[in-house]
Amino acid sequence: MSTSIPACDYDVAIVGLGPAGATLARLLGQSGRLRVIAIDRKRPVQQSVAAVPGAQSDLCSGFRKPCGGLLAPDAQKALSRFGLSLPKSVLVDPQIFAVRTLDLGANLSRDYQRFYMNLNRAAFDDWLISLIPATVHLERDASVMNVGRVDVNQPFGSEGVPLRVVYKRHGDDYPRTCTVREVVGADGARSLVRRAFFPDRTPRQLLSIQEWFVDANPAPLYLSVFDPALTPAYCWGLSKDGHFVLGGAFERDGAKERFALLKEKLAARDFATANPLRRESCPVNFPHSVRDFCTGGERVSLIGEAAGFISPSSFEGLSYAFNSALALADAFLRQSSGEGLPVLPSSGAVQKDYHRATAALRHKLLCKCAKAAILYNPALRHLVMRSGLQAL
Ligand SMILES: Cc1cc2nc3c(=O)[nH]c(=O)nc-3n(C[C@H](O)[C@H](O)[C@H](O)COP(=O)(O)OP(=O)(O)OC[C@H]3O[C@@H](n4cnc5c(N)ncnc54)[C@H](O)[C@@H]3O)c2cc1C
Repeated sequence: MSTSIPACDYDVAIVGLGPAGATLARLLGQSGRLRVIAIDRKRPVQQSVAAVPGAQSDLCSGFRKPCGGLLAPDAQKALSRFGLSLPKSVLVDPQIFAVRTLDLGANLSRDYQRFYMNLNRAAFDDWLISLIPATVHLERDASVMNVGRVDVNQPFGSEGVPLRVVYKRHGDDYPRTCTVREVVGADGARSLVRRAFFPDRTPRQLLSIQEWFVDANPAPLYLSVFDPALTPAYCWGLSKDGHFVLGGAFERDGAKERFALLKEKLAARDFATANPLRRESCPVNFPHSVRDFCTGGERVSLIGEAAGFISPSSFEGLSYAFNSALALADAFLRQSSGEGLPVLPSSGAVQKDYHRATAALRHKLLCKCAKAAILYNPALRHLVMRSGLQAL
């Protein structure tokens, strides 16, 4: 049985315009079938650079998503499936073809081939947003404060009860409210949508900390550093447009101290880690079982890192952001008629369709969990590093 939902302001609200949300907004907007509102709290790079006197780049722009900004082959493949080519303005020097892997405990070092593209992550996100058609109502520089049911006495997902999104444009005194049929959480690792609707589905998380330095290393480099005294995962360092970005993912307790210890250990190996220009941090999902992935339920869907979609073995997340957004866009379009979503099955047909469509993606991530278990086990890692294998 299916039931009409009373008139809503929009069919779909997308919370968050990182790579996942911006991709979904672009695909739904291109179809022109649904009324979509998409809300993100970050400022456009140009606007925020202008707001900081003397600022030259996103280093001062207020964009604070700590990210390596490396576009791995799977993410490149996803972009090519969309028919997108990267503009030069989002690329930074140098392009990286090898990663130097340091195992500090065992004092081992190996170089492995990689095929990454080195990006300015803030400019990349801006570019993805610039591709969203005007059919989508965009709210940038606006934070979603609350998502929930219009009638709080009705259970989540009740037939006939729209959802409500409360958001506030920065600088406004009062929040705005809109009613919607479906909500999409594309709001990253700290997802407000996931916490509001699925409070018991918080994935396992670490705290990532990164600092930016003027690059004083003799040659550009990309490092991955393993040391169980520092982290259950790994730390990284990479050259980016004249800067050296050093980071790691740490257990929350003692994260700052472990990051300081990382710097000390690398300084002892002659890496330049003095006088940071800025520090940034955020939680990063560290999935290790199927329970760490949550695609949503009823009329709420989660994509990208909000769904827990990130590789625990490399923290590569861009391809999963693109591919989960594509799967959800397809599910919306399959389930909607030519004139929007006039009737929504109470069972959450879009959600079920999307969940099914991401089975392969979740399976691939489970394989990455198995890889992480090997990589982060010192004895097994030493074996692999000593074996002469060409890939890690
Ligand atoms: C330290 C670190 C390094 C990484 N390096 C790489 C890498 O090199 N390559 C790679 O492929 N992946 C990397 N990742 C993973 C990658 O950054 C993520 O997987 C990817 O950004 C996920 O995209 P997303 O759109 O799901 O979420 P996000 O990129 O986190 O985007 C979420 C968006 O939601 C917005 N938002 C959040 N809350 C609200 C709110 N309440 N209201 C309005 N807007 C909101 C934010 O402003 C943001 O724009 C890294 C992750 C970390 C933590």
